[in-house]
Amino acid sequence: MSAQGFPPPPAGQFYPTMTVPTNEKPTGAFVLSLIAGIFILLGGWALIGVGNYLSSISFGLQGGELVALGVVGAVMGILVVIFGVLLYVTPQNHVVYGVLILILSIASLFTALGGLILGLILGIIGGALGIAWKPSQTVIVAPPVAPQGMGRACLKCGWMVAPNTQFCPHCGNPIT
Ligand SMILES: [Zn+2]
Repeated sequence: MSAQGFPPPPAGQFYPTMTVPTNEKPTGAFVLSLIAGIFILLGGWALIGVGNYLSSISFGLQGGELVALGVVGAVMGILVVIFGVLLYVTPQNHVVYGVLILILSIASLFTALGGLILGLILGIIGGALGIAWKPSQTVIVAPPVAPQGMGRACLKCGWMVAPNTQFCPHCGNPIT
């Protein structure tokens, strides 16, 4: 928030402010989550391959467990991609999706070889960026008009209005 170029407000007055949604999207978090999800999927896939190989040579339980873990890891990779897309489409829910991406990325250590490490790292960064993303910003709409002589502030929005004005030129509130 900045009042650059505006004269300081009169004592006891505040410039009207407005929270406006920015058109910016959490693009960085989106791209990182997408790549992370793909690598977590690949990590799960690799684990399935290793499990199948172990099963083929020893018929041991170990192989079957690895395959099951890999399937879970692959699904988690797909979920990270989906949450990354949702983060981009509905950025107002950026905290929820950021946390989910973060948790799934860390959990991929146990189910998808950490997304071949790259998925783990990018997912943590992407999730953290998603959580920290700023959805909107407060801006000063305009300095209040400071009329010569006596002025008064609109009770609804704080805009300074000239004497004998019936309605606030800013918000239309009747000036009593
Ligand atoms: Zn007003």
